Amino acid sequence: MQTRYLPAQHPDTAAIAAKIIKNGGLVAIPTETVYGLGANGLDEAAVAKIFEAKGRPQDNPLILHISGPEQIELFCHHIPQKAYDLAEAFWPGPLTIVLPAKECVPKRTTGGLSTVAVRCPDHDAAREIIRLSGVPIAAPSANISGKPSTTTAQHVLHDHDGKIDAIVDGGPCRVGVESTIVDLTEERPRLLRPGGIGPEALKAVLGDLIVDKAVTSQVDKDEVVKAPGMKYRHYAPQEPVVIVSGSREQAAAYIHRHFEPGDRVLCFEEELPLYQDCAPLSYGQEADVSTLSAGLFAALRELDDPTIHQVYARCPVGGGIAYAVQNRLKKAAAFHIVDAEEEL
Ligand code: AMP
Ligand code: MG
Repeated sequence: MQTRYLPAQHPDTAAIAAKIIKNGGLVAIPTETVYGLGANGLDEAAVAKIFEAKGRPQDNPLILHISGPEQIELFCHHIPQKAYDLAEAFWPGPLTIVLPAKECVPKRTTGGLSTVAVRCPDHDAAREIIRLSGVPIAAPSANISGKPSTTTAQHVLHDHDGKIDAIVDGGPCRVGVESTIVDLTEERPRLLRPGGIGPEALKAVLGDLIVDKAVTSQVDKDEVVKAPGMKYRHYAPQEPVVIVSGSREQAAAYIHRHFEPGDRVLCFEEELPLYQDCAPLSYGQEADVSTLSAGLFAALRELDDPTIHQVYARCPVGGGIAYAVQNRLKKAAAFHIVDAEEEL
């Protein structure tokens, strides 16, 4: 099939995209987090096409994108006040809330679970398409499963050109990592995935927050976890990635001792002069962590190259969005982290 290219700023784009969604087609949609591969979340056959295009495991549920808090009750029940508190504080925005699902949500969308994830994206084009289509849009990240997420229209075309009905080009994604996911189906709120909303900001609204173990450690493929997506190999280029922690100077000394031809260094812009002989690639500025989250997946995609042997990566420290960058990089590295200070 020919994939239609629709610029977000064109006045007809939202109506064309909404019509494709209503008719059971697939449209890649820009959001503030990453590009999503969207379909009518209530239409089993349309949702099945998402899984097929991505090569996504059937038990990995999708997020329903909705137009605002007033739609939560259409798809969820037993909604605690905390859900509305979160929506009020962070919607539209990069926060997904997991709640018990109503019958109208197909099991294909929820990956067989009795719960469903909902989010209202902070992107005008995305919300307009949801509004005009009149249905919740199920949209996982628009990458091929297991590959780094898509943060530009070019990334989406690279993975799906000729396989999906259309792509709406809204430019590079502002946040650049997928949404924060909070589960509200148990007594205590649980962070299932870090994202654009940091744990501190969530705690300020919720008062209490457990961090799921899938966030902080590698989980086995056969383990039962709350967020099924977290157990799969994710975000990773083909070659091994190792995170080198420690001060700028100690990390540079470590990497220079171990670097071999064919390796690459993924570092902060401020560190580029330290790695002139090590094929460095910067993904943003350490001094402005939002540039690191915005640039991470484009850099990981560039490093997804069979001629590269190994990548040494530098990772920001701290909370807020840095916590999400740490999580994605650790997953890309399969939690392989060396401390440059310890080797001295
Ligand atoms: P993606 O949109 O590709 O970032 O994937 C969405 C992720 O949201 C999945 O991989 C799951 O981990 C998570 N998710 C979606 N629905 C649920 C749910 N009902 N319960 C727990 N996690 C969910
Ligand atoms: Mg994904």
